[in-house]
Amino acid sequence: MSSSLPHAPGTTLAPWLLALAALVPLTGCSGDQPARRPNIVLVTIDTLRADRVDSMGFERGLTPAMDELAAKSAAFRDAITPIATTGPAHASLFTGLPPRIHGLRWNGNDLAPDFATLAGLLNDEGYDTAAFVSMPLMLHGMNLGQGFITRSDISAENDQIRPGSETNRMAIEWLQQDRDKPYFLWVHYFDVHTPFELTEHAEQHLGDYQGKLRNGASTHEVQHMGEPNPKAVPWNDTELTALGHLYDGGVTTADALVAELSLALGIELGQHKSGKAQPIPKGSGSETVLIVTADHGELLGEHNHQGHGFQVWQEALRIPLIIHDPSAAPIQIDERVGLMDLFPTVLEFAGLQSSTATAGRSLVPAIRGESPLPKTYLAESRTSPGRIQPVAILKGDLKVVLMGNDAFGFDLSQDPTEQTRLDIDSSPELTELAEIARAYEATGEESTTSEKPSQERLDSLKALGYVE
Ligand SMILES: [Zn+2]
Repeated sequence: MSSSLPHAPGTTLAPWLLALAALVPLTGCSGDQPARRPNIVLVTIDTLRADRVDSMGFERGLTPAMDELAAKSAAFRDAITPIATTGPAHASLFTGLPPRIHGLRWNGNDLAPDFATLAGLLNDEGYDTAAFVSMPLMLHGMNLGQGFITRSDISAENDQIRPGSETNRMAIEWLQQDRDKPYFLWVHYFDVHTPFELTEHAEQHLGDYQGKLRNGASTHEVQHMGEPNPKAVPWNDTELTALGHLYDGGVTTADALVAELSLALGIELGQHKSGKAQPIPKGSGSETVLIVTADHGELLGEHNHQGHGFQVWQEALRIPLIIHDPSAAPIQIDERVGLMDLFPTVLEFAGLQSSTATAGRSLVPAIRGESPLPKTYLAESRTSPGRIQPVAILKGDLKVVLMGNDAFGFDLSQDPTEQTRLDIDSSPELTELAEIARAYEATGEESTTSEKPSQERLDSLKALGYVE
């Protein structure tokens, strides 16, 4: 079985591919083995920083279920997103293309319908497809539901953020329906994103703190933290620590959601062990590949910022990535990989041919124990009129950040928290990276979707805290 990917529309693809060719050894499917056609479940946990997940190389004790899953899986401990904004990052995952090519560069845009998406390609090849998300706008707006036959949201009627427990309920109900095809299921949780609930974890860790974040925090409160306004939450260590506890509480919620969904897939984790035997979902695939990742991270005071959309710092870019393939031995991979790599990875799992129209490379060889080659990754921030849109490029230990006319480097091996800016002219490697990043920055600039969103869309974005 083979399928060639339709190329993305527009005239900006060619220059990008030229730049890409120098950067990326493009990988296709091995092609010599019969397709397994497993079920594929993709879980995206909105806003989950990699450093909150112990199996990514940290010690916080927030994610026992994900860590147990990682211990049975391929754990990619240095994965990054191409953009720390929900819609654009998911669009990159689903198209295998960077934001400047697919054009969805903030949550006010829609993905153009001409792009080939994972769900569409899998559906064309006989997969049943379904999407259950916690942010309905992604499906009834943004066109990220393209190719998903069943969707949790088809209209703006209910535009409220959905708790992950409800998203799971819908997804698990769908999983237990009879079907005679393998399936591709996308489940998205928003519980780590603002607004922050007062979880049991936060309650315990806040102790005798009595500040403004005592009972949780609205998106508005968090966004306006530190502003010179008596109502605003002050920006100091006490409040930032409290903010961290609220955020971590959301992480514990997400971890329990992963455990609950995993159990429905026949994978028992943590406290969900010894639960009642669950009916195994009825897709015809004999196996299920489970992918757990995030669309981006979050800054919680680092670099004097809170939030994610405009940031290319590591706290915003690094995401957890766990790929559970029941037929592969557990493995830890420390070579850097990216969210866009999931596009060819999922296609390879499904037995479809990859093509050159992706900036990603399949991670299946790495899951099978082959060390991935080093690769250069680009990242950028969301667009916003009148604001500088930083671009970052990472190669090995080196990272270069462009901020308008300014460009500076970091050596992440010595300086993982990006405190010491290196002069771009201090090494030929940094100079070269800056040049590639400048070329990328110029690529697709003309394709920026400047379409004004409808009032309805603006109202949705406002309710979510994305616009003032
Ligand atoms: Zn997001």
